[in-house]
Amino acid sequence: MADRPDTCEVAVVGGGPAGLMAAIALAGAGVATALVAGRPVRVDNRTTALLAGSVSALDAIGVWAGCRADAAALRVMRIVDDTGRLWRAPEVRFEAAEIGLQAFGWNIANQHLVAALRARAGALPALVRIDDDARDIAVGDDDVTITLARGGALTARLVVGADGRRSICRAAAGIETERRCYPQTALTFNLTHARPHRDISTEFHTPQGPFTLVPLPGLRSSLVCVVTPDDAERLRELDAAGLDREIERRSHSILGKVEVEPGHGVFALAIETARRFAARRIALIGEAGHVMPPIGAQGLNLGLRDAATIGELVVAARRAGEDIGGAALTDEFDRLRRADVTSRALAVDLLNRSLLSDFLPVQGARGLGLYLLDRIGPLRRAMMREGVTPRLAEPRLMRGEAL
Ligand SMILES: Cc1cc2nc3c(=O)[nH]c(=O)nc-3n(C[C@H](O)[C@H](O)[C@H](O)COP(=O)(O)OP(=O)(O)OC[C@H]3O[C@@H](n4cnc5c(N)ncnc54)[C@H](O)[C@@H]3O)c2cc1C
Repeated sequence: MADRPDTCEVAVVGGGPAGLMAAIALAGAGVATALVAGRPVRVDNRTTALLAGSVSALDAIGVWAGCRADAAALRVMRIVDDTGRLWRAPEVRFEAAEIGLQAFGWNIANQHLVAALRARAGALPALVRIDDDARDIAVGDDDVTITLARGGALTARLVVGADGRRSICRAAAGIETERRCYPQTALTFNLTHARPHRDISTEFHTPQGPFTLVPLPGLRSSLVCVVTPDDAERLRELDAAGLDREIERRSHSILGKVEVEPGHGVFALAIETARRFAARRIALIGEAGHVMPPIGAQGLNLGLRDAATIGELVVAARRAGEDIGGAALTDEFDRLRRADVTSRALAVDLLNRSLLSDFLPVQGARGLGLYLLDRIGPLRRAMMREGVTPRLAEPRLMRGEAL
């Protein structure tokens, strides 16, 4: 990458997967881009189920080849009602082949995904990586100035805020959020197991939240276990053998004997959506714009669509000789992302709250919904298609097209 500049066309703040994807999409199309990304503060042991559109986009920006060997195909998704309640839903099974796909997507460890993104970012001449955090963001009429934590500053026509849940870019743009906290904690583990997963992801719906096993290559899977904060504490206090037994019990031994790998993640669950996704020369992508509970693998897939959308808008405005950070562009970004993010946030919120509800009619409605999905083929197929490739928001990169 080139020497550190003090001006650029676009500055991306935050080097998580959403920020890296945006920086690569922009720089790959020749936009002078700076990625402001200090060292991540914690190890991320999560995995991401990348849906088909995200995989096409990663392929189009030259990243997927570096991921493929570390990713496992998701050919079948099962939802199993493990609530033990009076009104239980039937098991619902979604098969990718039913909508003509080889797989719904691929599951990959975030560490492998980020490593492949970083490798690609390092190969782009139009991309400068600034190994520092942004300390302050000041918005002017024609540009935005980022003051760096270790000294120095950078000026850009547009800032892409990819700086996660506590985004200082969002604060600088004067954007507020709507937030709901759930009485739930997600624990993330990776496991080795005795029986093959056969490319099947299984989501057990328990009264505390989903318990989701997602295939990794070989005899390995990732697990997101959503429980009450107290239950999370109990699980974290178990010794290794006790945890193996408990996870095997909760997974109904579908993968045989389980061994939990060292290291786990802990996430308090919340849903949070920015009131606008862009304003004042700042566009928010990934968790800076929206945080979702880990249900239905939506969070980062939305974040990658944000990144592809801002890339597409900037490249088109630049070619047309327009202001790449002006209100026309930021308003259009907000408009394009709103329906996709809010419809998914609503669905995830409803599903999660229906699991937690003790109110019988709510449990009945949830069971009926799953029953209808199980029985009505066209409804099930429409839902699968919408889950993999949303009709309303499919930027070019998600269709595998270059910017
Ligand atoms: C348990 C769990 C499971 C999940 N599973 C899935 C899944 O299967 N599929 C899916 O699509 N999504 C999933 N998600 C959601 C997904 O993990 C997130 O959407 C994704 O990690 C967010 O990426 P990001 O790049 O927006 O943010 P982050 O990964 O949080 O990156 C933000 C980056 O910005 C940096 N930063 C912060 N402040 C500054 C600053 N001032 N200056 C510079 N840098 C800064 C941080 O250090 C960090 O590196 C899951 C989430 C959870 C909690």
